[in-house]
Amino acid sequence: MTHFRIKNQFRGTTSFDGIELAHSDSIHRGSNPVRWVEMSLYLTESGIYVLDRVGMSLVYHKYDSDCDRGVRTAKNKLPEGAMPCYICRPESERRGETWVSRAPFVDMEEERHEVAECPTAEKILEALVTTRKKGAVGQPFLSLPAKRLLELAAESDAGIARVTQESERKIS
Ligand SMILES: [Zn+2]
Repeated sequence: MTHFRIKNQFRGTTSFDGIELAHSDSIHRGSNPVRWVEMSLYLTESGIYVLDRVGMSLVYHKYDSDCDRGVRTAKNKLPEGAMPCYICRPESERRGETWVSRAPFVDMEEERHEVAECPTAEKILEALVTTRKKGAVGQPFLSLPAKRLLELAAESDAGIARVTQESERKIS
């Protein structure tokens, strides 16, 4: 068992003892995105699933810009691979593979965690399925990272294995 603490974007902190069942991301092999999604699924000691979806970003903005995103960060605290926003264009210079801000402070975008506590495997699926409009009828849809997350988790969790098998015929 490991102790996990996840800071939610909207509601405080979720902390629990448990194991990580699966992890996936939206990065296509060979690509180098500046924004992407990471997903983790945990099983707590008390038998509840915790789904953590994280919006990741390497983009920084001009301090207090009209983009209105990110938090004030000193230029020497920027993460490796940080990229200036192409809309507000913070003054920057390229050093080798990375960009360096000329201003002492910028607004760096933060990780955004969206945490869902799911008492059953069915609830995980509910949280992950979105509805894609096709004409007048909505069609249930699972994103690639969501599919991968469930496939990985199904290898070690019987409840998730059963739910994903049952849903496979219904979800594209
Ligand atoms: Zn910007």
